[in-house]
Amino acid sequence: MSVSTFKVIDPATEEHVTTVDLASIEQTDEAIERARTAFQTWRRVDPADRGRLLRRFADAVDGAIEELAQLEVRNSGHTIGNARWEAGNVRDVLSYYSAAPERLFGRQIPVAGGVDITFKEPLGVVGIIVPWNFPMPIAGWGFGPALAAGNTVVLKPAELTPLTGMRIAELALQAGLPEGVFTVLPGKGSVVGQRLVTHPDVPKICFTGSTEVGKRLMAEAARHLKRVTLELGGKSANIVFADADLEQAAATAPHAVFDNAGQDCCARSRILVQRSVYERFMEMLEPAVASVKVGAPVDESTEMGPLISARQRESVSSFVEGERIEVAFRGSAPDGPGWFYPPTVVLPATTHDRVWTEEVFGPVVAVLPFEDEAEAIEMANDSAYGLSGSIWTSDLGRAMRVSREVQAGNLSVNSHSSVRYSTPFGGFKASGIGRELGPDALDNMTEVKNVFFATGEH
Ligand code: NDP
Repeated sequence: MSVSTFKVIDPATEEHVTTVDLASIEQTDEAIERARTAFQTWRRVDPADRGRLLRRFADAVDGAIEELAQLEVRNSGHTIGNARWEAGNVRDVLSYYSAAPERLFGRQIPVAGGVDITFKEPLGVVGIIVPWNFPMPIAGWGFGPALAAGNTVVLKPAELTPLTGMRIAELALQAGLPEGVFTVLPGKGSVVGQRLVTHPDVPKICFTGSTEVGKRLMAEAARHLKRVTLELGGKSANIVFADADLEQAAATAPHAVFDNAGQDCCARSRILVQRSVYERFMEMLEPAVASVKVGAPVDESTEMGPLISARQRESVSSFVEGERIEVAFRGSAPDGPGWFYPPTVVLPATTHDRVWTEEVFGPVVAVLPFEDEAEAIEMANDSAYGLSGSIWTSDLGRAMRVSREVQAGNLSVNSHSSVRYSTPFGGFKASGIGRELGPDALDNMTEVKNVFFATGEH
């Protein structure tokens, strides 16, 4: 039987990095079967021992931060600084959830005639499907809580970016996790991903990716009554009020959208600026964009690297070059090999322009003015998505009001922070269903069982 393979290409140099064997449907079934068998022992590992193993897994990742980061730079073109943070995030998520097995509390509920106790039972084999934009953190947000709750995991990295996930699976074994508890299976979405969704012995899927694939996957999962967590696309608003610290808002706005070359579901790719300060804000934004250092991701001072693939660059460029759209200003991008695209600021003619409504997933940001608070909220919410966003104002009451009104799962005030492992993460509307991270993530990885104990009093 011929083995299907994938050539990993360095997005910054277009050089061949390595070739990876892609799993077949049969191999996926075998991996699920191994995970199903391993579940029978993993679920019974004493809570303290499961916690200890997860801490050892976190330590193993900690010892490999530089190696994982270098691997991600070559596979994904992430800047070395970002890639170190991403590997560190896997360590931190594991370490955070290593405390969970001993705190998987049920309840004791007063009832007539006895006592009712609830238990949080693990689900079984959890299938985790990861996109290419943040291969390490997004994997960890799924497998950290899944393993802590006593589930076993079969994880499919994106076909384009399998290398760090494969290495993390080796580190799990080295740390002492039993065989079959955590498997990483490189393969195509249409093969391995699809099989995880249709396999009867995978009761839960954590999917992160496009809204389009997420919808299809949910429909398929419904046929099997399978639980899903969906982390999907975004088109987040960065709302700048006239009373904000404009310098700070303008200086940080480029990072809020150009980080990871804009391939970020939380990218603030729409900037809404109050009309009275619009001109001043744009004057300050221009030098901030020009100063973004775009270049080789291995270079410690680089702030933005290439896009993941030639195809992605074509797709990003189609929002600007393919449309009659006014470009306000642009940053730089190196010539030569590599799928670089310059940070670009555009001025849409209307709120119906594609660049204002669709997720670009590249370093392109659209700016429009607004008159007042009501219009800012209306414009921010006039989107199919609702993942993230920022509100810049010095008025605390307004910050509260607007953040309650904006329909998004993760907001920040006078900041562009999006994800912390200790707080819930997920979207409203077409940005998804369910929450990852934070103290409640194990609720999505367990079933609640209640058991009534009759005491013979009635
Ligand atoms: P895709 O939806 O194309 O792919 C995501 C994952 O799903 C990949 O592993 C892919 O495999 C797999 N897949 C594709 N088709 C199927 C299928 N039929 N059944 C099962 N699995 C399948 O998204 P992208 O990779 O293009 O990722 C970018 C998207 O992810 C953006 O929309 C972005 O906003 C979103 N995202 C959301 C985040 C969030 O937390 N809300 C965070 C990060 C990204 P393969 O690649 O091998 O085809």
